[in-house]
Amino acid sequence: MYRCGTGYDSHRFEEGRKLILGGVEIPSPMGLKGHSDADAVIHAIIDSLLSGCGESDIGTHFPDSDEIYLNADSKVLLAKTRQIIYNKGFKPISISLVIICQNIKLASHILKMREVISDILGTSFEDVGISAKTNEGMGFVGRNEGIAVIANSLLVKNI
Ligand code: MG
Repeated sequence: MYRCGTGYDSHRFEEGRKLILGGVEIPSPMGLKGHSDADAVIHAIIDSLLSGCGESDIGTHFPDSDEIYLNADSKVLLAKTRQIIYNKGFKPISISLVIICQNIKLASHILKMREVISDILGTSFEDVGISAKTNEGMGFVGRNEGIAVIANSLLVKNI
């Protein structure tokens, strides 16, 4: 049985923080604001995986009111999510993402993100696809106020 899941996340830029996307630190004058490391790429993937297997969302599983997740490494949250979906009999078979970011060039970091994500999820490198786009200057992304990410996951359940 196959299931698909969709996830979305956005975070606002904040000075004095590291920019971490897809588990990769990216040179940038600003990072993203958040309770954890604010890795919007991994957060969108987590929501797509949880949604695909009928689980409640990232905020339910890893609440930002919980001090344990203060500055949490989102790679650890993704590994925990993999375990949650495994426990329900699901396995990720492909992940497809769009990162929407106006001013920071991401192209040279995409390969590393795919490696990090596929390593954690136990898929092959080719099973993680990432595209990066600007928002043509429109809206909050276009004004360089933050970053948005859309993620889709395909899961299979052994029945
Ligand atoms: Mg988030």
